[in-house]
Amino acid sequence: MVSVDDRGFLFGDGLYEVLRCINGRYFRLDSHLRRLDQGIKALNIELSGELRAGLPKTMQKLIEMNRLENLDSLIYLQITRGAAFPRTHAYPAESTEPTVMITASPFQPNRALQLSGADAITVPDLRWSGCNLKTLNLLPNIMLAQLARERNVFGAVMIREGVITEGYNNNVFAIRDGALCTHPESPHILSGITREVVIEIAETAGIPLLQIPVSESEIYEASEVILTGTSTEIQPVIRINDHIIGDGKPGPVAQLLREELNKQMY
Ligand code: PLP
Repeated sequence: MVSVDDRGFLFGDGLYEVLRCINGRYFRLDSHLRRLDQGIKALNIELSGELRAGLPKTMQKLIEMNRLENLDSLIYLQITRGAAFPRTHAYPAESTEPTVMITASPFQPNRALQLSGADAITVPDLRWSGCNLKTLNLLPNIMLAQLARERNVFGAVMIREGVITEGYNNNVFAIRDGALCTHPESPHILSGITREVVIEIAETAGIPLLQIPVSESEIYEASEVILTGTSTEIQPVIRINDHIIGDGKPGPVAQLLREELNKQMY
């Protein structure tokens, strides 16, 4: 049961995480839990040590109950500030128990699209200055995803003050003059776990990496554009608006990143 007074329901007052479990093995569980802990601290959610410590065990139980031990699955974890009455904006009493919800379901990434490449549009970044927190307030992301659907494209690349921030559920990389460029960590992007993995792979492979903002005009000139995320994995983008990226096919850096991510993940 979820109370109608739950602050996640009323205000989107909470956090979430999405992670992969492949053949019973979690991908970067520690990184996802670290990001969750940072969000809990930033939002002052009063999650007890006991509840927090029990999260991995509960996930494991869900994997087993849903018979997902030998499959590719997606775990969705959500923590809200809990249910409190009357509805008041400021935080409720410290004794309010947070609501914890976890689901596990079978998942298949879109491998065909990863191989063929996808198209995207640019959209204004309508979000607040707390995008580094994985909060439930996703209305701008939802509206931009809907816009992409209506335009019949896969991705929506957000632009704030003339520079690319990220996609509505992925981070954005562009290859410029042989260097892999991505927006630096800031309150304007979510520090994606896949982003972190891509940076590690680039460093190991000797691909120059620049954490610098890329402008809208610069991204059209990139030799490759790549979206990264837990469900997106490594998704080459071959067209943005009316601009063909590179030679209109997924490029060698995307291929290398995909192969290396697959080695770690599967
Ligand atoms: N940026 C946004 C806005 C997201 O919602 C997500 C994932 O949902 C990402 C980036 C990618 O993060 P991760 O690689 O941790 O899935």
